[in-house]
Amino acid sequence: MQRIIFLGTGAALPSISQDNSSLLIESNGTYLMIDCSGSPYRKLLQVGADPALLHHILITHHHIDHIAGLPSLVESLWIKGRTAPLHIYALPDSMRVIEVLLDLWDLRQRPIKEFPIVLHTIKGEQDELVIDVPEFTLRTTQTVHAVPSVASKIIFPLGQVLVYSSDTAPCQSFLDFARGADYLMMECTFCDEETELAGITFHLTSASFSEIASQTQANHTLLIHHSEQMSCSHADLTKEITQKHAYNGKFSIPKDLDVLVID
Ligand SMILES: [Zn+2]
Ligand SMILES: [Zn+2]
Repeated sequence: MQRIIFLGTGAALPSISQDNSSLLIESNGTYLMIDCSGSPYRKLLQVGADPALLHHILITHHHIDHIAGLPSLVESLWIKGRTAPLHIYALPDSMRVIEVLLDLWDLRQRPIKEFPIVLHTIKGEQDELVIDVPEFTLRTTQTVHAVPSVASKIIFPLGQVLVYSSDTAPCQSFLDFARGADYLMMECTFCDEETELAGITFHLTSASFSEIASQTQANHTLLIHHSEQMSCSHADLTKEITQKHAYNGKFSIPKDLDVLVID
């Protein structure tokens, strides 16, 4: 079974109903977490995911809304008695932050029952192969954001392709990477009236979201990384995308803890 579990769908400002964006990809009994926000261990339990089956974590970039939950997750796994290795993947700049965060609380140097934390540095190449295991393949491409960040592509064993932008400004590298996706998941931090702010902070708006969605023509396009608290409502955003910008493909905005079965 392959599923996408939305651990969080908001942008940098959480609310009662939205945590910072983080995904759990399940494929044939193993989990890949993409970014690590809020209280991740608790959220794994909330969605019925066995934390022991979490083997891989991709940190797309080191903005606080994408990385702050990582030390807490590692601590929780250790208290729970984990023995299996945990693999963490990130670009060089983010990896330096990860090492600082882990070492701040001596999370890699335990007095007893240490479990291996294996750090894998991503080079940042276009369509780079990062993980190749029987359950899935992960490829990444560096995008354009305020700090170095990667988009990710998960290829499931039956050939379905999921592409996720994480945080990015509109850029050719992402457009090229996203072509051929069955499921296209993109951030849309801002609506059209916040275009100037989107430019300064290197994010998508409903206009750039719609443009990429139209050019990619995925079977299902999903929108995350949008906090209703700090921007327009999801209803207004939907109106901009589907009416003003006339995007007419299958489109949805998942809520926190929603599950999408990949078929
Ligand atoms: Zn973000
Ligand atoms: Zn960011």
